[in-house]
Amino acid sequence: MVGRLTSKNAIITGAAGGIGLETAILFAKEGANVLLADISEPALEKAVAKVKELVPAATRLETRKCDVSKEADVQAMIESLDSWGGLDVIFNNAGIMHANDDDAINTPEAIWDLTHNINVKGVWFGCKHAVLALRRNKKTKGSIINTASVVALVGAATPQLAYTASKGAVLALTRELAMVHAREGFRFNSLCPAPLNTPLLQDWLGDDKAKRQRREVHFPTGRFGEAVEQAHAVVFLASDEASFVNGSDFVVDGGMSKAYVTAE
Ligand code: NAD
Repeated sequence: MVGRLTSKNAIITGAAGGIGLETAILFAKEGANVLLADISEPALEKAVAKVKELVPAATRLETRKCDVSKEADVQAMIESLDSWGGLDVIFNNAGIMHANDDDAINTPEAIWDLTHNINVKGVWFGCKHAVLALRRNKKTKGSIINTASVVALVGAATPQLAYTASKGAVLALTRELAMVHAREGFRFNSLCPAPLNTPLLQDWLGDDKAKRQRREVHFPTGRFGEAVEQAHAVVFLASDEASFVNGSDFVVDGGMSKAYVTAE
C-alpha cells in the first residue's frame, strides 16, 4: 500500500480516545506503521480492533499501555520503535480536562498538578524521547505534533484554569522546540482543536442543554467539530507534504476563534 505516510513509524498517545483513534485509522490508511498508546488497556484493545476492521490492509499495528505522565513509560514506548527502524512521527495527543477544574479560587491544587502532569509534562516527555530517538536512529527528518487547544489562543469564559494554562504551555514549548531543532530537520507543530464531539467534552456536557448551547453558539457553522476533522490535519502535519510547516499553532476550529459576533 502506498500512502502519504508509507514507511513512517508513528506513535499516537491517547490513541483510544476521540482524536487519537480517528488519527490511527487515517495513519493506517495512509500506510504508516502505527503504535497506539493509551493509559487504558481495554480501550486500546477496542481501538485497535476498530482500526483493523476499517483498514484490513494496515501495514503494522500494535498497542502499548503508557501513562504519558511517567517518563519511564514514555521512554520505553519510544525506544520500542527502534526495532521497527526508529520513530519518524509522534502525535503527543493524550490529555485530560478534569471535572473539578475550575477558576483561580476553586481549582484544587491536586487537579492543577494532575492536569499539568499529563497535558504538559506528558508532551515534554514525548518530545524529549522523540528527539533522542530521531538522533539515535540517524533520522534527517521527523514530525512531532502536540495537541493544544483553541482555549490556549482565545481563553475560555467558563472556568477551566488548569486545562487552559496547560494548553498554553503546550503551544509555548512546541514553538521553542520547533526553533531549537529546525536545523536537524525535526518539525514541531501544535494542533489547536475547537470543542469537539468526543467523550472528553461531550460526557462532561451531558444532557445540559444550556451548557451545550453556550458553546455551540460560538461556531460559525453552528456545530461542534468532529474528531476526524482533526485527524485529517494531523495526517498533513505528519506527512512530508508539510515539510515547510514548523512551529505553527495549527488551528482546526471551523473559524470559531475568528468570530467577534456569532454568525447567522
Ligand atoms: P478523549 O478523552 O476522547 O481521549 C483522550 C485519551 O487520552 C483517552 O483515551 C484517555 O484514556 C487517554 N489518556 C488520559 N490520560 C492519559 C495518560 N496519562 N497517558 C496516556 N493516555 C491518557 O479526548 P479527545 O477529545 O480525543 O482529546 C485528545 C486531545 O485533544 C486532548 O489533549 C485534549 O485536551 C485535546 N482537545 C480536545 C478537545 C475536545 O473538545 N474534545 C478540544 C481541544 C483539545
